[in-house]
Amino acid sequence: MFSKILVANRGEIALRVIRAAREMGIQTVAVHSTADSDAMHVRMADESVCIGPPSSTQSYLSIPAIIAACEITGAEAIHPGYGFLSENANFVQVVEDHGLTFIGPTAEHIRVMGDKITAKDTMKKLGVPCVPGSDGGVTSLEEAKRIGEEIGYPVIIKATAGGGGKGMKVAKTAKDMEKAFQTARAEGKSNFGNDEVYIEKYLTTPRHIEIQVFGDGKGNAVHLGERDCSLQRRHQKVFEEAPGPSITAEERARIGKTCADAVANINYIGAGTIEFLYENGEFYFIEMNTRLQVEHPVTEAIFGVDLVREQIRVAEGLPMSFTQDDLSINGHAIEVRINAERLPNFAPCPGKITQYHAPGGLGVRMDSALYDGYSIPPFYDSLIGKLIVHGRDRPEALARLGRALGELIVDGVDTTMPLFHALLAEEDIQSGGYNIHWLEHWLETNLGDG
Ligand code: ADP
Repeated sequence: MFSKILVANRGEIALRVIRAAREMGIQTVAVHSTADSDAMHVRMADESVCIGPPSSTQSYLSIPAIIAACEITGAEAIHPGYGFLSENANFVQVVEDHGLTFIGPTAEHIRVMGDKITAKDTMKKLGVPCVPGSDGGVTSLEEAKRIGEEIGYPVIIKATAGGGGKGMKVAKTAKDMEKAFQTARAEGKSNFGNDEVYIEKYLTTPRHIEIQVFGDGKGNAVHLGERDCSLQRRHQKVFEEAPGPSITAEERARIGKTCADAVANINYIGAGTIEFLYENGEFYFIEMNTRLQVEHPVTEAIFGVDLVREQIRVAEGLPMSFTQDDLSINGHAIEVRINAERLPNFAPCPGKITQYHAPGGLGVRMDSALYDGYSIPPFYDSLIGKLIVHGRDRPEALARLGRALGELIVDGVDTTMPLFHALLAEEDIQSGGYNIHWLEHWLETNLGDG
């Protein structure tokens, strides 16, 4: 059993990990930049270490600083949360080279899945259905045009190293190809240091459905159903729910088994998410995230499991505490992402919180590192809280979301809360009848955001 773990993250996800560790009787070490000295994760952990100046490259992304913090405090394992170093294979290697444990998959799994071309190729070989497209990288404009003709427009050009919605460009027709191809390459190069791109058929009305998988690293794996994350702005999720309103029990069992078998096959360890686009009853793999997702609480709510606890268990070499047969869905859960952003353009809005009041009551979970008087620093992601509601069914979850949003008070900065109030009044949200383009159209029509 670990006696002490270090949490290499900040904000709500650092609290999430500290909470799970504390329930397991494990001591926690927080790391923080100088901009985060007063942050909640620093207050909540048993110990804390300042690892650098505000810039994340010199603090939360500084591998030597984090390893040194482990050595100073005697932490035996590192939980990376999401973002920052969570999908950095080199980091995992360094952690292991120092005799520490990385709470997550192996460096090799991260490497394979972090390169989208290799990931797609691997999944295809493991029997997972993929979006039709180029087999591997596309290096010249001529080749891109030929593939565009072959698979038919519209197509999407994606940077193999891309992430967070960056490095993806759509070509509606052959005329758009040159610009889309060059831009995707340039974005890949400038954001991820890699200009390799590949091409996929661009699906026009899909939903984003992702399967939560979990492996013990010894060839056993389970799936925990799907999350529907179709409500997106600029390819970024804002509202997630589980189960997916459009997925039947048979479809869930089928795609879930395909995913669990695939990760069991590669001895995957820990939590992972296999993302699909879903259109006309078919699933098309787009990528795998080898970490805990922001939206993991909706899965936890309907299955009644603690995914972080499981991550820590398997990292210690213990078995998962459940088998596939133990897992069944109870009710419906929805998460909304509360960002410190100003509508209509979602401009980041850091600043001082003059008043914070979290909602409560049956089926309400608020994961946030906010407190009265806290100043949100301008250096990091604008996510300041996740409101998760759980009900017996979807209508109850929606009603509870409206009720909980009404109780939530975040004063001092602008947030995305008004967006969710407005969305709840929409018929398509109430009925679950939306796809990945729905929110962009809605924002353009209602807020002039485009
Ligand atoms: P990232 O790694 O940047 O998150 P993904 O490959 O996961 O990129 O894609 C993010 C989102 O982009 C998807 O949820 C979907 O909205 C859109 N997208 C990706 N591939 C396609 C495609 N082939 N057709 C239509 N939309 C797509």
